[in-house]
Amino acid sequence: MISPTRLQKLAKEHGTPLFVIDHDALRKNYRQFRRYLPRIQIYYAVKANPDPAIVRTLYQEGASFDVASMPEFMIVHENIKDLPAQGRQDWIWDKIIYANPTKATETLEQLNQYKPLVTFDNLEEIRKIKQHAPNAGLALRLKVPNTGAMVELSSKFGASPGEAVDLILAADKAGLVVEGISFHVGSQTTNFENYVQALSLTASVFREAQDRGYTKMNLVDIGGGFPAPYDSSVRPLRELAKVINTELDRLFPKNIQILAEPGRFMVATAGLAVSKVIGKAVRDGKTCYYINDGVYHTYSGIIFDHCKYPVKAFKKGPTSLCSVFGPTCDALDVVSMAENLPELERDDFVYSENIGAYSHASSTYFNGFPPATVVHVSAAPKH
Ligand SMILES: *Cc1c(COP(=O)(O)O)cnc(C)c1O
Repeated sequence: MISPTRLQKLAKEHGTPLFVIDHDALRKNYRQFRRYLPRIQIYYAVKANPDPAIVRTLYQEGASFDVASMPEFMIVHENIKDLPAQGRQDWIWDKIIYANPTKATETLEQLNQYKPLVTFDNLEEIRKIKQHAPNAGLALRLKVPNTGAMVELSSKFGASPGEAVDLILAADKAGLVVEGISFHVGSQTTNFENYVQALSLTASVFREAQDRGYTKMNLVDIGGGFPAPYDSSVRPLRELAKVINTELDRLFPKNIQILAEPGRFMVATAGLAVSKVIGKAVRDGKTCYYINDGVYHTYSGIIFDHCKYPVKAFKKGPTSLCSVFGPTCDALDVVSMAENLPELERDDFVYSENIGAYSHASSTYFNGFPPATVVHVSAAPKH
């Protein structure tokens, strides 16, 4: 944990808006995931926060990576290629999965040289892969229930369980190798039953494929969705892990390799945003604070991620209900309409915790305001 005193010191030193990444928190999240889900190799979903320093820290912990675009692929490739290899010689499969089911032909052509592992969920994609990336290995993305997830994905991606084996056999017939099955239960999944249902569907597709003569599948990729502890209503990973481990051991023999693609869980609690009050007004009796970070910047998750980030003051004192607005001229740039804050003055700092995922990653330059400065720290200052 980074103390409020240290946060304020960082804000003074580096200026605001500031986005602080706590690498001790990253390592803690990684190790916790490993401890509770020992059978699973972690493929960190880079889109949650593509900062190269995060990639390096997680790689040193032993992580692999899930990417969804060529620039993300290169961020990982450039940042891990010089580090000691921890896997087999053909590390690309051990270290990177390209988990976007729909890929442009140009992307496939660039990926082909790396013999990548890519996902697919339809016939058109099989034809594209065959033509433009014949060296790729495949994982079928299965459509699974996303009930109760904060961010739903099942309407955009996934082959239905009924067509899954037809697609696997079609890929096989085209001369491609389907290595296994992947799914995503939806982001910030607090309904653990989603994982149970998805694993059971996956196992039934495995069985059907086997019955129909396809026996080359050896991996199950259980995707992301692992909930970050934004508040006390989120049950801990330990409880979800118990459910998943039981199902994995019941449904899949030991020789089946299990992957997961946690994004949010790894980085949400490792990011903090510090900004400052740049203006203050009273409208309809309510104090409105204007700060120098907002929804086009580090607070973008309010829009894109359906997420809330309480704004906190460093100052103590009696609080009242306030609004907090971002710096741009757009009416959409509202951080909160209901925040309990003490009386703040111009230049006072405010901050938000648990803002490491899907935040700075979607910052824009809208209205001329650049993204927050990023600073990397470990909990204990290094000397
Ligand atoms: C976004 C995404 C993830 C990460 O999801 P989280 O909910 O952040 O864990 C993993 N896999 C795929 C394919 C994704 O699109």
